[in-house]
Amino acid sequence: MEDRTLRSILHLDMNSYFATVEQQANPYLRGRPVGIIKAEGRGCVIAASVEAKKFGVGTGSTVWEAKKKCPGIVFVPSDMEKYFSQTEKMIKIVTAFSPIVEVFSIDEVFLDVTDSRRVFAGGELQMVLEMKEQIRQQLGEWVKCSVGVSFNKITAKLASGMQKPDGLVFLTPENYLQETEKIKTEEVCGIGRSRTKYLENIGVTTLGQARKIPNLPEEIRKLVWLEGEASLQTIEELEPAKSVSRTYTTYRELNSKQAVLRLVRNLVEEAASKLREMGLGGRTVCLILTTSLRESSFWARKTIKNPTGDPQIIFDLLWREYEKKPLPGVRFAGVGISNLTENCQLPIVDSRQKLLGAVDKVNDRFGLFTLYPAELLGGELIRPEVTGFLGDKWYRFGGRAQTK
Ligand SMILES: [Mg+2]
Repeated sequence: MEDRTLRSILHLDMNSYFATVEQQANPYLRGRPVGIIKAEGRGCVIAASVEAKKFGVGTGSTVWEAKKKCPGIVFVPSDMEKYFSQTEKMIKIVTAFSPIVEVFSIDEVFLDVTDSRRVFAGGELQMVLEMKEQIRQQLGEWVKCSVGVSFNKITAKLASGMQKPDGLVFLTPENYLQETEKIKTEEVCGIGRSRTKYLENIGVTTLGQARKIPNLPEEIRKLVWLEGEASLQTIEELEPAKSVSRTYTTYRELNSKQAVLRLVRNLVEEAASKLREMGLGGRTVCLILTTSLRESSFWARKTIKNPTGDPQIIFDLLWREYEKKPLPGVRFAGVGISNLTENCQLPIVDSRQKLLGAVDKVNDRFGLFTLYPAELLGGELIRPEVTGFLGDKWYRFGGRAQTK
């Protein structure tokens, strides 16, 4: 690698983001162990505050486990729009430091500051300190971030994880191999669960150990030697969504037709509402159902002439197919809508359009499934997954956001 081709990449990661934003918004929560949960009263912790992490509570802990480990924990239902509005502020701040920004997730961004760092007499160091100060001023004193500065994305991301909270770590071509010797392989973005298992099986847990192993599979070798890209996928380059889908694995087999109908209707309702939120309509709809162990399955795909975001139309299309060859023992369902178009005119009567508009307004304000079809009455509702993955980046930052 020739030195003058090196880029300067910065990775900024908000610390314990969802929990910290809640603590910022509500001083009562500050300094207390907080667990963010999907909705009131149930499920898993999707994010934990610094205080809760000290008790061993983390993402994926059940509410029951979390209470056992940390009796004083306060559970707070997630409020994605609140977190996202803070993210928008953060992105606005960092964009002023460099226009080359990749939004990696709701609380992480990459910046290419190779050119813009020259504006700062103190280079990246001064730049990051000013950035942190602006984040503190605009997002609040409780909200902290860690920053990694390096020459590619994989090393920058690793660097930001090396000091928390409120960290600032530089990994340079001179120091990065030595500085990362003792880091656990799973900390590297790209070494997931199965690669970690593979490495554990050959007695490797740290990057230093892994680098001593000859003949590692090429993809793993690259990751443990931290060979990565420096090019960012900027907001301008985001591609429009190609499909909207929703899947669900049930806890037990669904044998009654009524139970399958409820599940499919629930997923269609959620996918269609997302589609309408994005201002899109779809022409192709598909449904996949499988039994446990996937020994048998149902699959249907239908394409219609006019794009739609109406759950009733989508559901009727899919259900008609299902009725032809019903499948007992369903354990998994997936609904997908593709062939998406912007500015679609809903080919439905005016009163239906008004109804959907009113439902969206209410659900937008009070939460999805505040209003829902009567078919879903009397059972438990499946609500959207809450993650910081931002699968709808294009809609949030790309084409749609710019024309809004
Ligand atoms: Mg984070």
